[in-house]
Amino acid sequence: MHNTFNKRAKDKRIEKKEFGQDEVFVSHRDEGSSSAKKPCNPKRILVEGDPGMGKTTLCQDLAFRWARQECTGECKCAPCVHSWYVVIYLTAADLQGYQDIHSAVKDHLLSDCDIDQVKKALDFCEDKTLFIIDSFDEGHKDNVLLRDLIKGKVHANATLLLTSRPNYLQDPLKKHFQSGVSL
Ligand SMILES: [Zn+2]
Repeated sequence: MHNTFNKRAKDKRIEKKEFGQDEVFVSHRDEGSSSAKKPCNPKRILVEGDPGMGKTTLCQDLAFRWARQECTGECKCAPCVHSWYVVIYLTAADLQGYQDIHSAVKDHLLSDCDIDQVKKALDFCEDKTLFIIDSFDEGHKDNVLLRDLIKGKVHANATLLLTSRPNYLQDPLKKHFQSGVSL
């Protein structure tokens, strides 16, 4: 039994070697730039990749690990996904047409809760909240709420992980991102 477990653990390590999911939460930027300038815990993280490169899988896995798995302490990066108190996983299109984040979260994720409960949960610990927003490219049009989230007009202290196909997100919006990862 012991051996089986060890073998499994070893296999897992090999699988993980390519890209540790939690590595997305540490700063990645132009290789040439001085490391002193990099914020160690970026609050705006852009993950770009062509269709099929695993953007949605990354989002789903992070949300799943946060919700269903305890931190084993084996997550190599700090912060790992378990360090957030609240994780909200939506697509960019889910935010279209909404004026405030609470209503969008209630409608798409917490329909059983009343709006005040949602508001309380999201405002409770803003800097311990992670928004995972998938597919910017499919839901960026007329999306005022998403723009406000990127700019930090709402929930400025929360962390935002946004995925997109390459080159959809342009300045001046793009300059709000302190870290970028290409899949
Ligand atoms: Zn962890």
